[in-house]
Amino acid sequence: MLDIQRIREDFPILDHQIYGKPLIYFDNSATTQKPREVVEKIESGYYNVNANIHRGVHFLSQAATEAHEEARRTVQAFLNARSSNEIIFTRGTTESINLVSSTFADACMSAGDEVIVSVMEHHSNIVPWQIQAARKGIALKVIPMNERGELDMEAYRGLFSERTRLVSVAHVSNVLGTINPVRELTAIAHEHGVPVLVDGAQAIPHLKVDVQDIDAEFYVFSGHKVYGPTGIGVLYGKEEWLDRLPPYQGGGEMIATVSFEKTTFNELPFKFEAGTPDYIGSTALAEALRYVDRLGMDQIAAYEDDLLRYATERLEKIEGTRIFGKAARKGAVISFLVGTIHHYDMGMLLDRLGIAVRTGHHCAQPLMHALGIEGTVRASFSFYNTKEEIDAFVAGVERVRKMF
Ligand code: PLP
Repeated sequence: MLDIQRIREDFPILDHQIYGKPLIYFDNSATTQKPREVVEKIESGYYNVNANIHRGVHFLSQAATEAHEEARRTVQAFLNARSSNEIIFTRGTTESINLVSSTFADACMSAGDEVIVSVMEHHSNIVPWQIQAARKGIALKVIPMNERGELDMEAYRGLFSERTRLVSVAHVSNVLGTINPVRELTAIAHEHGVPVLVDGAQAIPHLKVDVQDIDAEFYVFSGHKVYGPTGIGVLYGKEEWLDRLPPYQGGGEMIATVSFEKTTFNELPFKFEAGTPDYIGSTALAEALRYVDRLGMDQIAAYEDDLLRYATERLEKIEGTRIFGKAARKGAVISFLVGTIHHYDMGMLLDRLGIAVRTGHHCAQPLMHALGIEGTVRASFSFYNTKEEIDAFVAGVERVRKMF
């Protein structure tokens, strides 16, 4: 059992008052709050081990290098990757997907080739492929969903052709909360000899992820959504695939030798880490992963599941409420509308009660289009949230409903 009141003490921001009301932070899908350990790691990194990495013979540079590489090994262990060479530090999910889409399209795709994505993708797993579509003449095929917001697996099987080169899907939808069957999606793609990228942005904070078990070729996530700092994220890639892809950016660190005639590239993982990496961010991310690991991913998932069930039952009782996303396997996210109240009005009025929710299309306009709506109100939960907060939130929603 998690001791939530104890855990909340690790997150000083949760004590804040907003308009004189206690902050209720239900915008965890957008970004999570940071425990003291993570913030202190950043501070102590700059105060005690700050020197550019990989290039120095001096003590501090070697200490900073070791801290960065240790962080890589922490990520490797967290994901159960085979080798730390398979862990590339990026700025986040978006950069990781852009890295793969750009280099994969260059190395493995030509005009007429196809990428399969799903109807519930975040824009960051749509637009990079569209950029490659415009550059290379490739096409996107889209997995539809059923009325509960689960992917249509039969339709998925039917999308493969001899031109399919990659499947790129979210592990957990940031709008519907659907936990997609990524192991099965991957196994089906592999039957066709097609590699898979999984966007794990919304899965990593909530579920135990084992990349060897999922068996996808690429798995990506952002540090800031898993209680780590902004500006750092991860691309996991199977070594043979990362070896096959060309460098994404050129610069220092990613080279072996450079002359004006020819450059040879560095080994993995450095081939994909041009320039000075965020070596303070990487160590703070590792601290965040150690933090959630200590709580236990299974405990986190069970507690958040309980919050989700409780909030769903209570919210459904409010007259005129429509919840979008009723998958059998669902993460702790509720997207909803009440009657004809505009999502923006609901969000603004809840804010006045100290309740932070997100409103709008959640960077998933094609999904909004499929649902026939413009946007939703989204409440997304973390292990530091409580049922009392949900009670206050539900009372707030009811109050807004009565106002309209
Ligand atoms: N993919 C999903 C499913 C997301 O929810 C998000 C962010 O909300 C992203 C990708 C983009 O993450 P980032 O902005 O950290 O790169």
